[in-house]
Amino acid sequence: MFPDDAACAGYLEQLRWSGGFTCPSCGTGTTPWRQTRERLVCPVCRHQASTTAGTIFDKTRTPLTTWFEAAWHLTNSKNGLSAKTLERTIGANYRVAWAMLQRYRVAMVRAERESLYGDVEVDETLVGGVGHGGQRGRGSDKHLVVIAIEVRQPKGFGRVRMRHISNASAESLAPHVCDVVTPGAVVLTDAWRGYDALPKHRYTRRKTVLSSSGDPAPVSMPGVHRIASLLKRWILGTHQGSIAGAHLQSYLEEFTFRFNRRTSRSRGLVFRRLLEQAVVGGPVTEADLSHGYEWKAERPSP
Ligand SMILES: [Zn+2]
Repeated sequence: MFPDDAACAGYLEQLRWSGGFTCPSCGTGTTPWRQTRERLVCPVCRHQASTTAGTIFDKTRTPLTTWFEAAWHLTNSKNGLSAKTLERTIGANYRVAWAMLQRYRVAMVRAERESLYGDVEVDETLVGGVGHGGQRGRGSDKHLVVIAIEVRQPKGFGRVRMRHISNASAESLAPHVCDVVTPGAVVLTDAWRGYDALPKHRYTRRKTVLSSSGDPAPVSMPGVHRIASLLKRWILGTHQGSIAGAHLQSYLEEFTFRFNRRTSRSRGLVFRRLLEQAVVGGPVTEADLSHGYEWKAERPSP
């Protein structure tokens, strides 16, 4: 479908201005003049708009066909792929492959705006701990992740959301629950007092049996337990267990994007959704890439 960059640019243009072209400079909804396949000119203010300006593709030197190929592999392989594998698959260098994946992960965050609802299990788990060379890591290599997952009736699970947190205090846990779970939902937790404030935030808290620290108990938290083990397997398998703490949140977003679309019948739709988010959101800065993507609440607090 995408033999060259012009075809890719045309597709992105359709996604970006699906309701018709709007000038990014003067805001006029109008029919633009076309300078090149990628460059449109506003007839009102003469602003030159590029399809990729202000998106995750901003100022890229990588051909769009390579970006599209990467997006296709990312959305069509069951477990995604590491930068090393992508490097081999598309013949880009490692740094380029890594940065492409990282930019797509930012687009994936933007695709997960709708809050979880109904009955939601929430618990923390530790990930990481195996450093380079396969040695058991010190405590500092372990990262705490809080997982929230919808429980469906009579059985099964819905969508998931995750966040890398620094500790399991109420100050870390409550904001995450408020950001990802719709008020009024029933939140299933263990007896940890870090969740005591939830009723104040209009949640019904239901305590399941007491679980010991560390991994979530498989019986009382089957959804969280399942996600935790899938996540650990994915990090060990696809990424050889090596994810820097600064970038962990980005990987959690990728896992979430794929898990929440696991029942999608059309891989083509998932591909389209990813590229849609890639052009409607803002650009990704070099700082985002080198310091790790800073997770931000998607909704203003009420
Ligand atoms: Zn204009």
